[in-house]
Amino acid sequence: MSQPTLKKDVFLAALTRQWQHLGLRSAQQMTPHQWWQAVSGALAEQLAAQPAPVRQDSAQRHVNYISMEFLIGRLTANNLINLGWYDTVAAALEEQGIQLADVLEQETDPALGNGGLGRLAACFLDSMATVGQPATGYGLNYQYGLFRQSFSGGQQQEAPDDWQRESYPWFRHNAALAVDVGIGGELETLTDGRELWRPAQVLRGEAWDLPVVGYRNGVSQPLRLWQATHAQPFDLGAFNDGDFLLAEQQGVDAASLTKVLYPNDNHQAGKRLRLMQQYFQCACSVADILRKHHQAGRRIEELADYEVIQLNDTHPTIAIPEMLRILLDEHQLAWDDAWRITSRTFAYTNHTLMPEALECWDEELVRSLLPRHFSIIKQINANFRQRVEQQWPQNEAVWAKLAVHYDKQVRMANLCVVSGFAVNGVAQLHSDLVVKDLFPEYHQLWPQKFHNVTNGITPRRWLKQCNPALSALIDSRLQREWASDLDALQGLEQYADDASFRQQYRQIKRDNKVALANYVHGVMGLKLDPDAIFDVQIKRLHEYKRQHLNLLHILSLYRQLRDNPNLEMAPRVFLFGAKAAPGYYLAKNIIYAINQAAEKINNDPQVKDRLKVAFIPDYRVSVAELMIPAADLSEQISTAGKEASGTGNMKLALNGALTIGTLDGANVEIAEQVGADNIFIFGNTVEQVKALQASGYDPLRYRQQDAQLDAILSELESGALSHGDKQAFEMMLHSLQAGGDPYLVLADFADYCQAQQRADRLYRDTQAWTRSAILNTARVGMFSSDRSIRDYQQRIWQTRR
Ligand SMILES: *Cc1c(COP(=O)(O)O)cnc(C)c1O
Repeated sequence: MSQPTLKKDVFLAALTRQWQHLGLRSAQQMTPHQWWQAVSGALAEQLAAQPAPVRQDSAQRHVNYISMEFLIGRLTANNLINLGWYDTVAAALEEQGIQLADVLEQETDPALGNGGLGRLAACFLDSMATVGQPATGYGLNYQYGLFRQSFSGGQQQEAPDDWQRESYPWFRHNAALAVDVGIGGELETLTDGRELWRPAQVLRGEAWDLPVVGYRNGVSQPLRLWQATHAQPFDLGAFNDGDFLLAEQQGVDAASLTKVLYPNDNHQAGKRLRLMQQYFQCACSVADILRKHHQAGRRIEELADYEVIQLNDTHPTIAIPEMLRILLDEHQLAWDDAWRITSRTFAYTNHTLMPEALECWDEELVRSLLPRHFSIIKQINANFRQRVEQQWPQNEAVWAKLAVHYDKQVRMANLCVVSGFAVNGVAQLHSDLVVKDLFPEYHQLWPQKFHNVTNGITPRRWLKQCNPALSALIDSRLQREWASDLDALQGLEQYADDASFRQQYRQIKRDNKVALANYVHGVMGLKLDPDAIFDVQIKRLHEYKRQHLNLLHILSLYRQLRDNPNLEMAPRVFLFGAKAAPGYYLAKNIIYAINQAAEKINNDPQVKDRLKVAFIPDYRVSVAELMIPAADLSEQISTAGKEASGTGNMKLALNGALTIGTLDGANVEIAEQVGADNIFIFGNTVEQVKALQASGYDPLRYRQQDAQLDAILSELESGALSHGDKQAFEMMLHSLQAGGDPYLVLADFADYCQAQQRADRLYRDTQAWTRSAILNTARVGMFSSDRSIRDYQQRIWQTRR
């Protein structure tokens, strides 16, 4: 496999066709956005014209990665880098007086995901293309991505994100792949006992493909996003029956199905439209997988030899009964045969242990939308009950835990474990907890089903693209191509004590901080000191992630500075980026509290610019690409046991930020890799958290015993940070105290402040800090998502033959 080629004159000819197509008379008539549109359109055309790479092994098992979210971020820059076309295109545009970097800034992020789960899916597609794992990503083409965030008076405002999928130049609409999907209706039992499903309505799924380009290897494979339309302009049958209103109604339903991405992260809302989205996506994807299988001339019995379906969390679980339905009802297979094929095809990735995020659906909802699937789920449940009865005879307590259908609920995680051949967690600690706390009985039944695959990030986007200066410095010292072989970064260890390398590394970090400071000045009008510690917490706003713990520490520094204006400490800039789900009021209250504290601190002359707080609005992939290269300190401070893995932690460490964090998720493995001297670990461990909660944790004890903490909480209660409004932070303060502080913020506060002091001290020793930062970059190569994909291949997919 070889790098695809692009000749400058060929590119310019394609570009000309683009502006002609726009109806313009010259390239110079294009607006900046049209330049992006035209450049991307020309590139997409040239990519499509590349010869398909010869597959070494056409029989290699194909991976179908189904995910409700793909947080892909901007594509044009990424594709240019992976294709190796960046310099050619930059030079061609330069001749027209156009800067490629400016053109790339015109792209609006396709924000088809919430947070880490969606971003992981995007990194995995990039890595599968890069390591040569044949794969298709399957998702939904939402018209509105995650909302756009702004602040008004410190409060989060949400605006729809109409990202203009209609005119996104990387899309290819593949009309031949449309799939019809039935929904609702009745189940009729035939005389031979078989069940016939008569759906009430038929929707059509249209396939919109985005190219996923491997790193300089000629591979391009699809991310296929389904978009709903109605199967007919309207239901002709209903129209002829005179039921015009019903026909209209059905059309409206179809069009609204892929309108919006649900804005929840780690929380299930149980909404009817969401289940419809899940089924629509799964039905389209399973049909597509089977269509390809048949077209390749393969028998249905061989499905699992050629295809694996990886479920990114339980959101696409309904694909399992959908596969069974097709094998039983359309292929007329016997149950045992259909079950054998299905259970060898599906694998499930668990992303959370938190009960509020584990999907359970009301049986009435499932029955009314998907009567045949509900019947199949009950059959799975009845068969499984026999297996449980053998192992734990007449043990209702165990059955109550393990059942797929119980208490009028369908439990998607249980359905996945029972029906799939593999279950994996996403970091070693998390995978251990999946076995020990979430699924111990399942593990007893099928120990060989359970695996760990620690998450990863693509080094193409998260180093080469977002941090070109550091990438160039690494290129200058390493012989090996690190971007597709991230362990090669170990070769940087030898420069950690090299004064000239340190100097260059530090200068790059400072330049990145200046760039971020310019951005913050542009969007917020706030001036930042690039020599201050850039202390960064970027992730969804959630209680378990504990942005409010960070806030308490900020307020502690603020108090200390007021008490002692000569306090010895490095100046610090606290940077936040986070969206709260619109219905998650406590999370929004935390945003408000941080913004109010920011306003007070940033305008307090006593602080003399030694402390600044900036909550950057509308955190998204392109903002992450700006913040991560500029970070000194990476806040990874979730309650131990709650963050399954985290991937922001990996991006920041790779770019030379030191982590301040708990022993949670992948932080544990990051600490092992970088060494105890190069990370600031604090707080209660998983075992200590459990012990505290078992012994009747009382947050107020911590307030009583800690004068500093008491003073901070009193200040928040006093209205001093909220223009006298004593109720402003009521929700947050209640949760931390009378609410029982479910995430142990107060229990970890004192140790967190000590860890922050260690970070401050190290930062003031510039040489020692730079050394640690270099060692972070050098030692986190294992967190490449290329390694994650190879682990999936070896442990789960069995595709490395
Ligand atoms: C990486 C990433 C995340 C995940 O961050 P965590 O700190 O792992 O929760 C969320 N959003 C965006 C835009 C990201 O790039």
